[in-house]
Parts: sequence; structure tokens; C-alpha cells
Amino acid sequence: MPSPITVLDTLGRPMRDLRISVTDRCNFRCTYCMPKEVYGADHAFLPRAEILDFEEIERVVRASVALGVRKVRLTGGEPLVRRNLEALVAMLAGIPGIDDLTLTTNASLLASKARALAEAGLHRVTVSLDAVDDETFMRMNDVGFPVQRVLDGMAAAEASGLGPIKINTVIRRGVNEHAVLDLAGRFRETGTTVRFIEYMDVGHTNGWRLDDVVPAAEVVERIHARWPLEPVDPGYRGEVAQRYRYRDGAGEVGVISSVTQPFCGDCTRARLSADGHLYTCLFATTGHDLRDALRSGADDATLLEALRVIWTGRSDRYSELRSLDTVDLPKVEMSFIGG
Ligand code: SAM
Repeated sequence: MPSPITVLDTLGRPMRDLRISVTDRCNFRCTYCMPKEVYGADHAFLPRAEILDFEEIERVVRASVALGVRKVRLTGGEPLVRRNLEALVAMLAGIPGIDDLTLTTNASLLASKARALAEAGLHRVTVSLDAVDDETFMRMNDVGFPVQRVLDGMAAAEASGLGPIKINTVIRRGVNEHAVLDLAGRFRETGTTVRFIEYMDVGHTNGWRLDDVVPAAEVVERIHARWPLEPVDPGYRGEVAQRYRYRDGAGEVGVISSVTQPFCGDCTRARLSADGHLYTCLFATTGHDLRDALRSGADDATLLEALRVIWTGRSDRYSELRSLDTVDLPKVEMSFIGG
């Protein structure tokens, strides 16, 4: 591969982050993400042959890094249900130019895998955790999975050097609002940063449906009223979370206001789906098929050129348009969230 260059899309945004969905399967059925009604026993997940193998993923990552990607995140589905994931981690860890190699997980399988992942070269993990009381957590994951096993997974990750851990918490109005203070209180002074994500309700109307959304500003107010906060400058362009530190020095929290303050202007993320399609926006209804190229003998230069053409043609600012709600956008389901 040639040495890294920076390609810009039509809005001047570089490609810096690549989120790779390594599987479309998950062992949770979070009601807001993969609800049982849709992902029931008869749901057809992708057959094995349609999923990129590790060598194919590595080739896409190498090409992306050559075009400016610095941060690679493995996600899903639940990435830890993909067998032997540590082998992929080891392959990616060997690619020069990646500053941040990370994984977003529900942590259900982390206790047994943390050490192997760390030894393979994973830098850190982000854990999704929507409550610290079993009743709420089990209601949200909808498979009866207890909180303690997630906490055990986090402890194993910390012990293996995969910290500092970030937690992602989706807050839904009337479902887990109390988790704001529960999680903030539990993880103050631990070095773990909790990031509260606005629940994205898609697929129902053209605009965001706000009924179930607790705005990030309200989350900040609630925490601030209990433990005073002050804003922290963003760490880098395109940082998704707005950061706040506790005035008493107990650490940081973040909020991700994807609904009330969409951040398309700084979006530097590309997403690779498990079946090898590159999406330049979380809400894009169609991706660009790279698997075809990978499986029809494209060499590295051809793959790189395909990626360059996709990125330089990118003009997505779907969330902004959606929140303006002035244009007639198609109804979509998010194809995958991917961390
Ligand atoms: N299974 C892994 C996990 O649980 O972290 C990785 C995939 S999961 C889809 C990635 C993240 O997307 C999770 O933090 C999840 O909470 C978030 N997410 C899923 N559906 C969402 C929605 N409708 N609104 C906001 N965040 C959502």
C-alpha cells in the first residue's frame, strides 16, 4: 500500500474512523435495537459464506488506513459472538498507522475473552450498559442477562489492560431514565467514562420521533444538579460525545446528542457491514459492495481506488436533514448501528 494520504468527501470531511461489523448476530435482543418481534427464532441471519472472512476485512482496513483512517472499531451485532475474533484483532494490530484499535461490546462474553483480545493487540473496549439494576437491564436486553456478568467482563477487561473503559448508555424516556444518576454515581471516581446516548427512534416517521428521547441537555442538567459539571473541550475533530468533567475531580461523563444536535458536519466515519458493504452514513439505505471486488480478484490498488471514489463522492448529512425534517426522506431502519 502507498503511504497514507488524506481523502476528503464533498463536504471536506476526511475518512478517519472505520467501524466494522464482524457479524449481524447478537445474543441480546435489546428492545430498541434487535427486538424479538423482528429478530425472532425464524429470522434469517447472513449465511457464513456471505460474511467477510478475516483476510478480506484486513484488506479493506489496510486500504482505508492508506486513505486516512486512524481509528478502527470492531462491532456488530455482538462482535464477541464471532468465533476467534482475537485472530482478526492480531491481524489488524499488525497494520501500521492505526492509532486506536477498539471494540464495542455488550460485554456478555468479555470475562472469558478479555485476556486473549488484549494479548492479540486490542487497545481498549467500549461497553454498552443501559442500567445497573437487574430489573431494568434484563427488561432492556430482553434475554434475562444479569448486570453482574457485564460488570465481571468489565473487570476482566480492566485487569487485562483494556481500560480505561467507556460505557455507552442509551436512555429511553420512561424506561431507564433513572439509569442516568445510577450510572453516573456508580462510575464516578473509577476512571470509567459513561456516555449517555440519545435514543434514536427510526423507521416510523420521516423526522425523529421525540416522544421517547431524553435530550442530552436534560441528562447533563440532571447530573449537574447532583454533581456539578463543567464542559471539556473536544479531544479531536469529529468527536461524537460532548464531554463534561465533574468539578470535584471525580472524572468525566459524555453525552451523544445524535437526535437533538446532529453532528454530520464533522462526521469522519465509514462503516463496513458484515457482508462487505461500505456505508458512508449510519442511515444510508444502501452501501457500496466491496465484497464483490474482493472476491473477483481486485488487487490492492483497485480496492484502494474503489474506496477513494466512494469517499470523495460522499455527501451524506442525513441526521441534519432528518432533524430539519424539511425534505422528503425515505423511511429507513438503521441497517446496523455499529458502535
Ligand atoms: N453488540 C455491541 C454492543 O452492544 O455494544 C455492538 C453493537 S450495538 C448495535 C452498538 C451500540 O449501538 C450500542 O451501544 C447500542 O446501545 C447502540 N444502539 C443501538 N440501537 C440504538 C438506538 N436505537 N438508539 C441509540 N443507540 C442505539
